[in-house]
Amino acid sequence: MSYKLNKKLVNLVPYDPITGHYDIRLDANESCFDLSPELKEKICRSIAKVDFNRYPDCLAKRPTEAFAKFYGVSPELVTAGNGSDELISVIMSCFFEAGDTVVNVSHDFSMYGFYAQLYETKVETYQKEADLTIDPDKLISFCREKNARGVVFSNPCNPTSLGLGRDAVRKIITSLSDTLVILDEAYMDFWDQSLLDEVEKYDNLIILKTCSKAIGMAAVRVGFAIANKTITTALRAAKSPYNNDSVAQTIVSEVLAEKDYLLSCRDAIVAGTKSLYSDIKALDAKYGCFEKVYEPCTNFVYIKTDEFQKIYEFLLENSIAIRKFSGYLRITAGSKKENAAVIAALEKYFTK
Ligand SMILES: *Cc1c(COP(=O)(O)O)cnc(C)c1O
Repeated sequence: MSYKLNKKLVNLVPYDPITGHYDIRLDANESCFDLSPELKEKICRSIAKVDFNRYPDCLAKRPTEAFAKFYGVSPELVTAGNGSDELISVIMSCFFEAGDTVVNVSHDFSMYGFYAQLYETKVETYQKEADLTIDPDKLISFCREKNARGVVFSNPCNPTSLGLGRDAVRKIITSLSDTLVILDEAYMDFWDQSLLDEVEKYDNLIILKTCSKAIGMAAVRVGFAIANKTITTALRAAKSPYNNDSVAQTIVSEVLAEKDYLLSCRDAIVAGTKSLYSDIKALDAKYGCFEKVYEPCTNFVYIKTDEFQKIYEFLLENSIAIRKFSGYLRITAGSKKENAAVIAALEKYFTK
C-alpha cells in the first residue's frame, strides 16, 4: 500500500489566475488606482516602527477600529481576516458540520462552494432566473426544501454585476431564521444597499467586506467579517490567532484613515464603470454584437455573448486581459485610458 491523496484533494488544481504580462489588466476587479506616493511614504514610515521580532496583534485592533470608523460600525462586531477569502474558509469550516447543507447560488463567486466542499458540507446550488437575478422567495423556498444550515451569496454579485435590494435581502435573513446567511458585500462600496448598519439586529447574519476592491489594496491580504457579538466571538475564537501580519495591519490602518481619498477613488471608479457600460452599450447598438450587457452595480461590466472565447483571445493578443466565463465576459473598469483601449480593441474585433 502507498499513500494516496483523499477523494476531495485528488482532483484539485492550484488556483490559476491569468499570468504573464499584459499591458492592461481588467480581469480581477481590482481598483485602477494605486495608493498615492504620499500615502505610500506614510505607510513606509509606519512600517519602520513595526517590532518585527514580535508576533502581531491577534485581534488586529488598529485595522479593525479603522475599518469600523470608516464604515460607521462598532469595532466589537468586526473580525479581521487574511483577505475575505480566509474568512470564507474559516466560516465554512467552523459554522457547519460535515454533512450539513450549505446553499450557494449560480452564477456567483466560486470560492464559497469550493471551501464548503473542502469541509465536507453538502453544497446545494440555487439557479438564478434567466436574467441572472435572484428571486428572494424562490431562494427562501429552496433553502427550506434543502434544510439549509447556511446560505451564501455576493451582493452585488460577482460575476453578474447585479444587486439585490435591501428589502429582498432582509426578507431572506428574517425568513430563514435558523439558517446562517453569509452576505458578501465585497462590491457594496459601489452601490447603496448595504446592511452593515443593521447587522447587530440579526443573529443569523455575517457580512463580508474586503480591502481588495474599492479600497484598492488587493496586494495586502485583509478582509473583514461583521456580525453580532455571539457570532463575532465564535469567529475570533475559530480563526488562526496570527492571521494578519503586523505589516498588513499597519498598512490597512493607515489607508483606511484616508476616508476622503478613498471615497474620491471610489467615486471615480463608479463614474468609470458607468462610462465603460455606456460605451459597450453603444458598441452593441452599432454592431449588434452582444446578447446582453448588464447594467452594473459594481466596478465591472458583465456581457452575455456566444463569442466569449474569440473575443477573450483577441483582447489577449492586444495585451488586454479580461475574464471569461462560459457564455459571458467580465470586464473590470480601469482608468480612462484603459477603458478607451478596451473599447477600441472591441471595435477592432467587430469591424475586422
Ligand atoms: C474579490 C472578491 C472578494 C475579495 O477577496 P479577498 O480575499 O478579500 O481579496 C470577496 N468576495 C467576492 C465576491 C469577490 O469578488
